Amino acid sequence: MSDDLRPLVEVVDAARWFDVSAPWLERVLTRKPRTLLRAVDGVTFTIRRGETLALVGESGCGKSTIARLLVGLYPLTRGTMTFDGEPLSRMLEPGGQGMRKRLQMIFQDPYASLNPRWRVGRIIAEPMLAHTKMTVDERALRVDDLLQQVGLHPSDRDRYPHQFSGGQRQRISIARALAVNPEFLVCDEPTSALDVSVQAQVLNIMKDLQRRLGLTYLFISHNLAVVHHVADRVGVMYLGRIVEIASRDELFETPRHPYTRMLLSAIPDIAGDGGARTPVAGEVPNPLDPPPGCTFHPRCPFARDLCRSQAPATVTRGTAQIACHGVAEGWPMDPDTAQASPALAR
Ligand code: SF4
Repeated sequence: MSDDLRPLVEVVDAARWFDVSAPWLERVLTRKPRTLLRAVDGVTFTIRRGETLALVGESGCGKSTIARLLVGLYPLTRGTMTFDGEPLSRMLEPGGQGMRKRLQMIFQDPYASLNPRWRVGRIIAEPMLAHTKMTVDERALRVDDLLQQVGLHPSDRDRYPHQFSGGQRQRISIARALAVNPEFLVCDEPTSALDVSVQAQVLNIMKDLQRRLGLTYLFISHNLAVVHHVADRVGVMYLGRIVEIASRDELFETPRHPYTRMLLSAIPDIAGDGGARTPVAGEVPNPLDPPPGCTFHPRCPFARDLCRSQAPATVTRGTAQIACHGVAEGWPMDPDTAQASPALAR
């Protein structure tokens, strides 16, 4: 990681709401109010240069929406996002191309994200055409170099995507993302569509490239084992909010938020707090009608009345920031006593 302590990316109170109301006439006839999906609602974090911040959580928790906000695919409803001190919204304005090329995205599905009718050389060279004044020869040399950097052969430039395996296609996606020398890569579940056997190869290539090129990653995943392999810090998301964010080691060794402990219970091989974790329970509530107070309270064995009425503020413990009344107030959080003690159900 870089010695530069200034954040490269700074996100403050970011929110993205989607209007998913019924059509106007239907709403008027049925007197239904507008319906808002608060996909992301009050998210704050920073990412240092050369660091990997992973965001984890169950499907629909808002982590992919954050990825799309960062690369300008959606505008913010509220809050700010800055990149190297500049508002990220600048990249969508005229003249914002310079910032745009400093951030690139790697998508989940290497099958869908590569144009099947283009040869690999053209796919990788395309961002250079859009963002640089490189000549044809310079682009060709750069394509060959990028193919080698991701473990492919320069002769692969003349082949089509369907002639490659899933892991090779994701390497092509990475080469394309690197084509314009970005500093920051937003990686949205980059290995989840791949066989387990090739996931580690792709992750190791990404780590090696980060070391050599000084890249900064936001890594989105639902897979905590993958996150444990790649992340420096981890943010755990639940229903559009970060409920715990900490250094990787602290989060895996001393998970504090009941939801983090619940997620870690599913992977005992890497969880390290001696087994005092919350068992997996319940379903994610409907995000269109989230519970009041702490949105995790219907699934939390430690919930009290305060949790049902008031959203918890964030408190700091060690390297971690946690949004939980129980952590803030020092409630006992042993799963066994929580189930047995009527006091904890108050
Ligand atoms: Fe559980 Fe209450 Fe903490 Fe929410 S605030 S995680 S309900 S203890």
